Amino acid sequence: MFKILQKTASTGTVTVNYAAEPIKISERFRGRPDFDFDKWKDARPAAEVCPTGAISLSDKGDSRKVTVDYGLCIFCGLCAEASSEQAVRITQEFELAASDRRNLVLTAEYTLNADRTHRGLRKVDRKSVNVETDVENLGKKARETIHKILGRSLAIREVDAGSCNGCELEIVALNNPVHDIERFGIQFVASPRHADMLLVTGPVTRNMELALLKTYRAMAEPKVVVAVGACGISGGIFGVNYASLGGVDKVLPVDVYIPGCPPRPQALLHGILLAIGRLAERLHNDRAG
Ligand code: SF4
Repeated sequence: MFKILQKTASTGTVTVNYAAEPIKISERFRGRPDFDFDKWKDARPAAEVCPTGAISLSDKGDSRKVTVDYGLCIFCGLCAEASSEQAVRITQEFELAASDRRNLVLTAEYTLNADRTHRGLRKVDRKSVNVETDVENLGKKARETIHKILGRSLAIREVDAGSCNGCELEIVALNNPVHDIERFGIQFVASPRHADMLLVTGPVTRNMELALLKTYRAMAEPKVVVAVGACGISGGIFGVNYASLGGVDKVLPVDVYIPGCPPRPQALLHGILLAIGRLAERLHNDRAG
């Protein structure tokens, strides 16, 4: 017992101060791939190696539309390796949560040479990645919102709708002393009847569809749904098949999407804080209407 107390005292505080301060990330961490569309002379090698179809091409005559979907991306980095002109670069960006699925999609249009390489860039639709970047304020706002609007903690029910458990490991990490999600007044609960937020991982297997629906229906209004990881957003590596429905929004209305495979704890926290804003809006509308 004395040894435990001694160790605790000598370790000191281990909790990181995210989101009030930026987090120090390992050099080896792979985040969002960034695309330099001006520099990109051929998207085919990257599209060919992309394991989830996050990079897709559609050629018509001498023009090509390239679509990049961060909701499908597993941040594997293969596109950067395949891009010989170094037009694709793996960044360390992880704060990618978005409330609109369309904000996770980028498109670029090119004219083509005879050998199907890019001759010129016609236009880029960069409305994505339109994420909430004011993270420090997000944390402060979330804590205030939870206390002001709910008058108690925010309760989250997590459902694994067929995930590989990678996302679960990161969700569990949210509760450890390093990330300590309870400092925001947020806690995980066992019953959907006590929950304000439904956090869903996995591509939604057909076997889990009914269980997920029943959990959602058991929650009191107002409630918000957060889809976690590439699988929760789009089915990820599993896609749509005989066993997988291809994402949470095929079954439930989703309020916030958190990309990643799996999203790191701070990415989850960023998405949850964003979802609290949605919950506050809903509560306000309910009270007004
Ligand atoms: S990092 Fe994303 S876009 Fe690039 S190959 Fe991997 S899944 Fe595809």
